[in-house]
Amino acid sequence: CGIVGYVGPQGSDVTDILLESLSKLEYRGYDSAGIAVLTANGTLELHRRAGKIANLAAHITTRLEAQKGGLGIGHTRWATHGRPSDDNAHPHPDCTGVLTVVHNGIVENYAELRQELELLGHTFRSETDTEVLSHLIEQTYFGPAKRDLTEAVRQALQRVIGSYAIAVVCREQPDILVGARCNGPLIVGLGENEQFLASDIPAILKHTRKILILEDGEVVTLRSNGVSLQKLDGRVVERDHITIEWDA
Ligand code: GLU
Repeated sequence: CGIVGYVGPQGSDVTDILLESLSKLEYRGYDSAGIAVLTANGTLELHRRAGKIANLAAHITTRLEAQKGGLGIGHTRWATHGRPSDDNAHPHPDCTGVLTVVHNGIVENYAELRQELELLGHTFRSETDTEVLSHLIEQTYFGPAKRDLTEAVRQALQRVIGSYAIAVVCREQPDILVGARCNGPLIVGLGENEQFLASDIPAILKHTRKILILEDGEVVTLRSNGVSLQKLDGRVVERDHITIEWDA
């Protein structure tokens, strides 16, 4: 179970970067893998497969449109709710297809949230606890967050009980990637005109040695030219990066 994310210049080899970073997290164990890439023409290309990362990679090579973009997220899943399958693999899209989410951990109150969201008209397509996050963030995005992704993630997570590290991308906000954590590991890698998100440092050490370690209850917004941090209550957080001297 691991998470990766990338934001950089349009036309970057996002697929390759995500798959390579994911493979560095294989040691954590997993049963499925998936990625989402936001392409230059504004589509969110989603690929998910039960089984090995190599399996996912083989599936993607036949779909050239997914290779490049400016933004993407990836996931290795260790199933807790819902069997290992293509449909239960992450990323999980919302109803409108405007955003998609990867998640490590467990949403303890997912049954209650799912019932509430279904009453509001959301249709669920997987057996995972994670999918409530996609719909809850979507509901907040089009509602009180007024189409601001960071704000939608921040407000939605105030309703969530459990453990998580997540990453979210949104078709309408093609220059940002949003991450958050609570009792799940998540770090940010600072690059030159590109930024990285991952569960663990070795996943991105090839790209940068400047690392920001997130703490519980923090939300991070990554843009190609920098990152900003806040608490779930909206307070801004300032933190210096550390520089990693060791090799993976
Ligand atoms: N609870 C989620 C699921 O079963 C995430 C599992 C994980 O941490 O990989 O899909």
